[in-house]
Amino acid sequence: MDSIFTTCEHCAERFEAPTRSAGGLTNCPRCGQATEVSGGSDPLWTALVGLALAVTVVAVTIAYQAGGGPAAAMTFGVCALIATIQRLAA
Ligand SMILES: [Zn+2]
Repeated sequence: MDSIFTTCEHCAERFEAPTRSAGGLTNCPRCGQATEVSGGSDPLWTALVGLALAVTVVAVTIAYQAGGGPAAAMTFGVCALIATIQRLAA
């Protein structure tokens, strides 16, 4: 299995972690605390974030053009963003 080097954010221990955990959390072998694994640029995740932003922009535009005004547009946009994130996280 491929592995990458990462540094513990708590004790600065440098250790190898599986490549699949990049951008996520793994437990440090020295201090045992969860630490973030560097090098996480998952193309799928980047695409999903882009999709969430696009959905938000569309939602804001639709709400604004429907005559709801800026406050309603922002509320609608935030709701759409939260709904998208919840769907992606599920
Ligand atoms: Zn550590």
